[in-house]
Amino acid sequence: MSINREVKRNKQKNRMKISLKDKNPVKANNNNYELFHTIPMEVAVYDIRGNYLYANEHYLSNIKNKYALIGKDDKYYFELRGISPENIDLRKEHFNRALIEKKTINFTETLYFPNKKKNLYYKRSFQPLFSDEEKKKIEAVCLFGNDLTAVILGQKELKYLVYHDRLTGLKNREAFTEQLDQILMEYERNGNSDIITAIFYLDLDNFKLVNDTFGHDIGDRVLGEIASRLKICLRKSDYTYRLGGDEFTIIIKNIQSDFEIARIAEKISNYLATPYFIANHKISYLTTSIGIVLAPKDGMDREVLLKNADTAMYNAKRRGKNNFQFFSQDMTLNSVKRLKIEKNLTAMVNRNDYDNQLKMYYQPIIERLETGEYKVIGSEALIRWNNPEIGRVSPSIFIPIAEETNLIMDIGDWIFNRVFEDYQKIKEQYQATLYASINLSARQLRSITAIKKMERILYELDFDPSLLQLELTETSYLDDHDEVLNNLQRLQKLGIRLALDDFGVGYASLSYLHKVPARTIKIDRSFVRFLSTSSNHSELVRSIIVLGQNLNMDVVAEGVEQVEDLYLLTEHRCHKFQGHLFSMPLPLEEFITFLNRNSLLTTLIH
Ligand code: C2E
Ligand code: CA
Ligand code: CA
Repeated sequence: MSINREVKRNKQKNRMKISLKDKNPVKANNNNYELFHTIPMEVAVYDIRGNYLYANEHYLSNIKNKYALIGKDDKYYFELRGISPENIDLRKEHFNRALIEKKTINFTETLYFPNKKKNLYYKRSFQPLFSDEEKKKIEAVCLFGNDLTAVILGQKELKYLVYHDRLTGLKNREAFTEQLDQILMEYERNGNSDIITAIFYLDLDNFKLVNDTFGHDIGDRVLGEIASRLKICLRKSDYTYRLGGDEFTIIIKNIQSDFEIARIAEKISNYLATPYFIANHKISYLTTSIGIVLAPKDGMDREVLLKNADTAMYNAKRRGKNNFQFFSQDMTLNSVKRLKIEKNLTAMVNRNDYDNQLKMYYQPIIERLETGEYKVIGSEALIRWNNPEIGRVSPSIFIPIAEETNLIMDIGDWIFNRVFEDYQKIKEQYQATLYASINLSARQLRSITAIKKMERILYELDFDPSLLQLELTETSYLDDHDEVLNNLQRLQKLGIRLALDDFGVGYASLSYLHKVPARTIKIDRSFVRFLSTSSNHSELVRSIIVLGQNLNMDVVAEGVEQVEDLYLLTEHRCHKFQGHLFSMPLPLEEFITFLNRNSLLTTLIH
């Protein structure tokens, strides 16, 4: 073979190759589908029986396969590409419609690839190709397709983002609202059903402290941990949502009894209260307040249900946090009452009307001397409020409201002023020195301004700091961040005594014993009340007394009402008491009278 001929042949070969590749190799019924070759979308042509006449490169890129495809049907194509055959029938249906209706049929198609475990999403159309101008006879059917996978996945992701909380992966407020609406709609459709749905509204206690102490990264991780704990507590069919911040909701459907709900609530409450170990930090003060509403009982309207859930949750907070509360009609009434209290309290502060409405009462604190005699060593100052509009309101109701509204700052200043002034009067009319024990709110303890103000009043009224005792409840020293610790030290340096009030009630009483430089423990009256009837309470009181003695602290038993209690306490070697057995809290004048009739005490006891 001459070189020329060889070159010529090669050229021919190359031309063949080019023509195979670049020109449409598939022709049927004299039609040339070359046109489709360059279209940037998937194109295939079928004969009317559903066998392939042509496929472009987007539809099937492998040229060998493309040849093999010709004359074959979709079953072959799906196999060739590793597509699950389940969608063949659907495609066939659309194909037949295009033939019968003689028009373009648009549809979407999801193709599943079992080997790759993924879906691809397509927008497709079958378009009939006619052999005659009048469009009577269909010669072939063209399939066009666009891969929408990226778009669809983007939308799915978008949908995920819209309905999920990024931080915890839980569903979010939008999802909660939709789900709740759907449930309520079902109730409406089916009439009032016996099936109960419970909605839990959770608000973490002391979460702010986590952020303040350890920063937001740790805070975020705690929230994540809470999400997984909630999942563990609940069935798969229960829905958990994070509304934002430290607020979560749970929807529990198909409830049989209130008791069942209470059990779930308790489980959550306990589990969320166990310590969190995160990045070498141990966080053991995080608890949760839970408000619970039941549909349809507590409302058939989303807004109403949420409002009621909020009320119930708020009630849980008021009852010392770390508990759950059901919503009930009484509670609604309570919230109305609460608003009135808030309004009148605010008005009193704004009008500087303290002296007309507030009064300090003094309840003697008694010590049993070794001689067996009883002596008043001080008193606890207890506030009384009598409002022109709503009458008398107990401090255990209005003080928490004053705390929450920050009115306690102003009221607190008034209390110090009043007590120090009253004690001056006592000093003038009674010989022995007494200490004054004043309840300090968490807010006051946290605020350096409040502490400084108190110091000034102390100084101006020339009150001996060593005769002042401040009673702190667990909620106040629980927040053991720097401000509180600094303020505690500052008070201690001034020579002011600190007392741990309501000791034993909170779960963390013990752990705070060594953190707070307190000199006095006040055993909560709930323990004293059952002293003579419950051996458990008796044991507990005894342990607290021993603990106090070992730590060289004063132990005062509160709420001593019965002589038997007094004897039991004395047996347990507690020698300081406060309670109705000795005296109710008294207005100043009566307190002074009481002091001067001190001998009465001995007769009372013996
Ligand atoms: P607390 O500090 O535990 O005060 C003791 C409460 O027990 C007082 O109720 C007192 O009257 C009552 N009590 C005393 N002896 C007995 C007894 O033998 N039996 C029974 N059942 N109760 C007894 P009160 O005065 O209603 O005060 C309730 C709470 O309000 C106080 O609990 C305290 O937390 C708060 N509070 C009262 N006054 C003030 C105040 O001036 N400032 C602040 N921040 N809180 C106050
Ligand atoms: Ca107290
Ligand atoms: Ca107390």
